Amino acid sequence: MNEPRYADLPLAEAASAISRGKIDASDYLTEWLETAARAQPVINALIDFAPELARADLAPPSGGRLAGIPIAIKDNIVSAGMPTTCGSRILADYVSPFDSTAVARLKSAGAKVVARTNLDEFAMGSSTEHSAFGVCLNPWDLSRVAGGSSGGSAAAVAARMVPAALGSETGGSVRQPAAFCGVTGMKPTWGRVSRWGLVAFASSLDQIGIVGRTAADCALVLETIAGADANDSTSSAERVPQYSNELDGELGGVRFGVVREAVDALEGEIRENFEQALEVLRAMGGSVEIVSIPAIRYAIAMYYVIANAEASANLSRFDGIRYGHRSPAAETLREVYLRSRGEGFGREVKRRIMLGTFALSSGYYEAYFGRAQRSRALLRREFDQAFMNCDYLVTPTTPGPAFEVGEKAGDPLAMYLSDIFTAPANLTGIPAIATPSGFTESGLPLSLQIMGRHFSEGGLLKVADCYERAAGWAGRRPPLASPS
Ligand code: GLN
Repeated sequence: MNEPRYADLPLAEAASAISRGKIDASDYLTEWLETAARAQPVINALIDFAPELARADLAPPSGGRLAGIPIAIKDNIVSAGMPTTCGSRILADYVSPFDSTAVARLKSAGAKVVARTNLDEFAMGSSTEHSAFGVCLNPWDLSRVAGGSSGGSAAAVAARMVPAALGSETGGSVRQPAAFCGVTGMKPTWGRVSRWGLVAFASSLDQIGIVGRTAADCALVLETIAGADANDSTSSAERVPQYSNELDGELGGVRFGVVREAVDALEGEIRENFEQALEVLRAMGGSVEIVSIPAIRYAIAMYYVIANAEASANLSRFDGIRYGHRSPAAETLREVYLRSRGEGFGREVKRRIMLGTFALSSGYYEAYFGRAQRSRALLRREFDQAFMNCDYLVTPTTPGPAFEVGEKAGDPLAMYLSDIFTAPANLTGIPAIATPSGFTESGLPLSLQIMGRHFSEGGLLKVADCYERAAGWAGRRPPLASPS
């Protein structure tokens, strides 16, 4: 196998070269599919991957912003005629009859949906260990997790199985695995991208996000999928800027706020790495000051009450009747419900449904759900306040690098804590981006998180793009993706 020719080519250049016939679309696709076929048995980033199928019904690209670009889709975002398992046995045989809005927009821009990516069951997890289709491994270190729940999307982009992928975010599921895999992950403002065709986990937090090699690649995908959609009344009518046109490398006097509560306890390599990232932001002409968001300490508690409460309601649709697994052993209607759900859902999903049902139950509603909602409002006010004094907020994306497979699988609370820096953006609805910031001594990727005001995606991508150019960590390839 030769050194790949297209693995590091920016998406915009590839698509334009394909449209102009400078790169042969089938050559381009073949290179990605070959890498994917080689990496898949090693890291298990994809579900049901069939390179022949990925190639078979692909009409030659007719031009468009993403002409001929293969994209992988997290397996909880539907594409017509393809399975959508959500990483669960309960949907193991489900094939979607329609396209989600995001996928439909990718296709009309010329992109090719070639694969479905592995995930924690129903996007519940931080490691892609809770998948009914096996764990997805980290391409930088095969003894470690890829992160989650969009672990498959992040690992696939890092290993150069595809140039970009869609993921979903409820509490950090795009940013956290992007951080663990050394790629760029973006969570847009809640409402920026239609949720039509995204299987619901916690609707007030859910948002489709993007994994790319760089912020510039994410910008191109975001401007393709964002915008109002009649099928999702919560999608925003706010105009969609051409984000990629704004990436001029000029930063100017941007003010960054370091969230004190998030960074006070940082130690060792993580602290050092974060301080180096702040140095780069200063060298780019930004100013850095400390801001305080006291309620951030309660973000994990709020998140797991609200997310599980909403999940317990959303997942009631998997009843063995409408779609998905129906227990062959069931004899009465009640047994259809109980057995189909009992056999179909995995342990983590059951745990969340029970916790969420409890938090909503009469007598406990006020103590848990009501209180979490009020704290969420407080958190949002504190973020608004912080944004009066600075333009962007920065933290590390995660409290540590990718952990070992199995290290946290038996300890749900330890697992939940990996979302400590990411969940606040979902609770407040703001956009945030995770961008590579270097490596630990043992070679594991680290990441900087930048958060912005609602609908500040343009500025956020521009800042991340400037940082990536200055810092030079984005776009690195793990050995797995560099065969020679
Ligand atoms: N890790 C978080 C959870 O398990 C976030 C998941 C997500 O963003 N989908 O709920």
